[in-house]
Amino acid sequence: MTKPKISSDWMAGCSGCHMSLLDIDERLLEIAELADIRATPITDLKEPDESGVDVGILEGGVNNSSNEEVAHRMRARSKILVAFGDCAVFGGVPALRNMCGTQEALQRAYVDIESNEANSKIPSDPELATMSNVRALHEVVDVDLHVPGCPPDPDVIYYVLKELAEGRMPEMKDENLHWH
Ligand code: SF4
Repeated sequence: MTKPKISSDWMAGCSGCHMSLLDIDERLLEIAELADIRATPITDLKEPDESGVDVGILEGGVNNSSNEEVAHRMRARSKILVAFGDCAVFGGVPALRNMCGTQEALQRAYVDIESNEANSKIPSDPELATMSNVRALHEVVDVDLHVPGCPPDPDVIYYVLKELAEGRMPEMKDENLHWH
């Protein structure tokens, strides 16, 4: 039987959700037996297969035009798209920036903050991604499964991966909505 392909990527987050994924420890080997783990930030492949994957997992909010590309690419190539962690589910920590607005946040980070050198400027290279308000993944593309938590608990991640790897849709309720 062909193993289901799983791929993941990250956008505006802290990588903590992927760190929590690694915290499933030796159970990762079990998942690797059940599924074909393709492009992820922790493997050598960096883009999900053009021919598609069964499960795409995205960490982080959608913060700029580059994140939008990542979100649309993973959506287009995945049968099931998972919003992984609070940043992807509802914007999370990065979305706090929305309260002051993108321009004010950039001004603070690149110009006003005390540790910056005098005459610091907001980067304006046209090749840089265009910033936007931080959005949840479902505000940009359709999402099939939300896995909340900051980060999601490793036991929940293991449950979700195992269910998906065995062809079932995880049920996100009761203990699976608890995290530490
Ligand atoms: S949900 Fe929490 S752990 Fe995951 S990327 Fe966002 S801030 Fe980091």
